[in-house]
Amino acid sequence: MSKLAHRVKDLKPSATLAINAKAKALRSKGVDIVNLSAGEPDFDTPGHIKEAAIKAIEQGFTRYTPVPGIPELREAVCTKIKEDYGLEYSIDEVVITCGAKQALFNLAQALFEPGDEVILLAPYWVSYPPIVELAGAKPVIVGGAQERNFEPDLKLLEDALSPRTQGLILNSPSNPTGLVYSTEFLQGLAQLARQRDLVIISDDIYDHLRFDGKGPENILSVAPDLRNQVIIVNGVSKTYAMTGWRIGWAVGPKEIIAAVSRIQGQSTSNANSIAQKAALAALCGPQDCVAEMRKHFKRRAQLLYQELSQIPGLRLTAPQGTFYTFVNFAAYYGCLTPSGTEIKDSLSLCDYLLEEARVATVPGIAFGDDNCLRLSFANADEEILKGVARIKEALTRLKPAS
Ligand code: PMP
Ligand code: GLU
Repeated sequence: MSKLAHRVKDLKPSATLAINAKAKALRSKGVDIVNLSAGEPDFDTPGHIKEAAIKAIEQGFTRYTPVPGIPELREAVCTKIKEDYGLEYSIDEVVITCGAKQALFNLAQALFEPGDEVILLAPYWVSYPPIVELAGAKPVIVGGAQERNFEPDLKLLEDALSPRTQGLILNSPSNPTGLVYSTEFLQGLAQLARQRDLVIISDDIYDHLRFDGKGPENILSVAPDLRNQVIIVNGVSKTYAMTGWRIGWAVGPKEIIAAVSRIQGQSTSNANSIAQKAALAALCGPQDCVAEMRKHFKRRAQLLYQELSQIPGLRLTAPQGTFYTFVNFAAYYGCLTPSGTEIKDSLSLCDYLLEEARVATVPGIAFGDDNCLRLSFANADEEILKGVARIKEALTRLKPAS
């Protein structure tokens, strides 16, 4: 066999995708799994969006589109950003990508290179470190404590900056914590970005899944003067239950967007033509489907929080958005399973819960915090209740280490 390139030798599969796939495979074999690992809405894509795709096929909209996407979708993205954030963009500042993940990947390729450092705020989304590393740059992790809603101390953040720091990736509401960074934090970060000329990638993929009724907020809505340093990433996956359609976008300074587009033109070409038409229908059509899904996520967030509160030893933070909560299980580390295996860390606890409780969760280590597990509430109420009951029961079977 020919040798593999150095860059893939240490590349791990996405933990979230891997666990979700394992849970689905067990289920299809008839194992009764409660899947609290899912990173996608459990709702079906709304009907009017599917109809737009069917119409696109029927009308033969099946050829290559311009690499950065069809102009009407780029226009719709500009309108959406104006409505949501009050920010003005033109279509040459927008590129449509194969999901937000590809927007992030191409941005890293366009902006970072060996010798550069990129700040990631822990807990971070699983794919940020590999995306930065595949560009040859070094992720520098700055962690936030759970008692401060996982928000890093701005002083710590400042101390982590070096002359090699090029940028920072920010995700609010956050996967995995479900928390929204405070306006004060965004203002403090904006000040650092201004002083140190940092590029900020604002991953706003969960911006419409915020439960406090407030509108979306990102670093540019609190610091519009940073327009030349901020790139907004978003997509239809989470807001419109369209994860499989693979449509995302990046919005920012023209030269950066043109560079992302050049990378795309030499790799994936345009995003799927039919899915672009569907995304157009999502952005321009009725938005009550979004409000409806958000209402369910909010209720389920409360249900999951309330149920988990009944389990001794867990440390919880009530999610403010997304469909995830990040729960500290460290009180159970050091315990022994009935077969005598030690629960050493988040990985061993996840394995135990999958094997003994038939509940799939994601180990916190994949997000840079080994004390926690990520639990998804993109699930029906009954599944949430069943999942927590099983976790509780499995935890009572653990024996404290002597
Ligand atoms: N960013 C975050 C924080 C995510 O959780 C996801 C989930 N898939 C993505 C980006 C990528 O989304 P997609 O590629 O489906 O648009
Ligand atoms: N973003 C989702 C998650 O964190 C989907 C999986 C992935 O793209 O990694 O679970």
